[in-house]
Amino acid sequence: MARALICFLMACSLFAATPVYVVLWFDTEDYIEPAADDAALRIANDLTAEGVRATFKVVGEKARVLEKRGRRDVIQALSKHAIGYHSNWHSVHPAPAEYLVRLGYVEGAEEFERRERSGVADVKRIFGSQPVCYGQPGSSWGPQTNLALRNLGIPVYLDEGEQVGINEQPFWYGSLLHVFHMGTNQFRAQLNVGVEDSAAYKRFDEAVTRLASAGGGVISIYYHPTEFVTTEFWDAVNFSRGANPDPEKWVKPRRRTAEDSERCYGVLRRFVQHMKAQPGVRFVNARDLLGL
Ligand SMILES: [Zn+2]
Repeated sequence: MARALICFLMACSLFAATPVYVVLWFDTEDYIEPAADDAALRIANDLTAEGVRATFKVVGEKARVLEKRGRRDVIQALSKHAIGYHSNWHSVHPAPAEYLVRLGYVEGAEEFERRERSGVADVKRIFGSQPVCYGQPGSSWGPQTNLALRNLGIPVYLDEGEQVGINEQPFWYGSLLHVFHMGTNQFRAQLNVGVEDSAAYKRFDEAVTRLASAGGGVISIYYHPTEFVTTEFWDAVNFSRGANPDPEKWVKPRRRTAEDSERCYGVLRRFVQHMKAQPGVRFVNARDLLGL
């Protein structure tokens, strides 16, 4: 009887502690506007100061320009979080879906490996660790990447899109752990609403209550460091609708003012502080998720 009561109490306390995991990730991709390097540095340092474990998915060319620009400070700050891979050239054509679309599963995987292997190696060499996850540039998705990523030693697919998904929670697909198509469990604090986005706090609290009552779950939140310093995407102004200009013709995206960037960092910091303060919430990076 006493043992049954202890078991019951343990079950209750386990339920009360049902964790809701927040995976916060940053597509670190803008290799055209150098201010995006500073944005990545600032965000990584702010999150480290908050004790939050995030994931930075880095484009191969972004890693190479950080190295060329001597940004060891950025590389070291990001390395305190999990490092992922976000394609070799992102929006330069052909992007992954463009070069995969006419290929079968095995041939497409070989083509992905042929085009992406050096980018994975560069991210690994520059950041000193094997990328733990991948996510496609934009919506440039293809099923062949699963086989290729396994061969490249990348075990997690972390991104957002609607191509595949199960119940708006992580799932296994092609022997990779996927955090994808998270639906109502994927949102963010909007950067352009003022000093903070209290609607996002409400949405977060509701998602936590809903997931905790169902036995726990994962919330996926993402940004791009470049969004904190620009008002338009670096690739939209160069590579939209098939445009593929030579590098000397690349143009920089429009910048935010320093004050506006500071406001954006504040929006994210306040959102993170709100999430951290909720009972039963734990921040996890892509490596932690694999362990869980
Ligand atoms: Zn991207």
